[in-house]
Amino acid sequence: MERIVLLGPPGSGKGTQAELLCKRENFIHLSTGDLLRGEITGKTEFGRMVKEYIDNGLLVPDDKITDYVLNYLSKNDLYKKRVIFDGFPRRIFQSEALINSMKENASNLECAVLIELDDKTVIDRLSNRLVCSKCKKIFPGTYEEDNCSDCHQKLIKRTDDNTDVIKKRIEVYKAETEELIGYFEKKSMLKRIDGMGTSEEVFERIKKVLNEYV
Ligand code: AMP
Repeated sequence: MERIVLLGPPGSGKGTQAELLCKRENFIHLSTGDLLRGEITGKTEFGRMVKEYIDNGLLVPDDKITDYVLNYLSKNDLYKKRVIFDGFPRRIFQSEALINSMKENASNLECAVLIELDDKTVIDRLSNRLVCSKCKKIFPGTYEEDNCSDCHQKLIKRTDDNTDVIKKRIEVYKAETEELIGYFEKKSMLKRIDGMGTSEEVFERIKKVLNEYV
């Protein structure tokens, strides 16, 4: 399995799983959120354009984000590499454009992995988790230290990890991804993964699905 889309609600462990897949299975993590934040920090023209959308919680227009991602894939020679798409595609227009562009470049998108978790668990996890103030690594509420295990900086709570905002984020996630889930399901590309349990348990489930394609 070479190119996959990772889907899942906030708190489903998408970031952790992407990190494990990169470390252990040689994937490249393509997170549009991270790339766009990098453009903003780098004060590029594109960064200035997308900042307004991001700051207002709006999606960047389909044509702009799609051109950007497809350009990024070809500039970095990623069509034939192992890539995890995280945050893109977010809409059917984007999915179609990505799948078509893959075909044109003699490549393909193999499946969409959806990490499923019920709302109550999402709220519990997000309201208890901590994040490293420096490297942004995420730690569950059960982690007993005050500092990051990687870079030893202080762990903090994200400002949007409070119950009201969490409920809003779940709503937004559902509104945004529902049509995408249906779209991948119709194409028989959707793989549902149970997101309960430890990150290692979830990782094993994902690996099993990926190995079915070998
Ligand atoms: P994320 O970190 O994935 O939540 O993305 C942060 C913000 O970047 C989103 O709220 C959007 O404004 C923008 N963004 C990221 N990916 C996309 C996308 N595929 N389509 C449109 N906007 C996006």
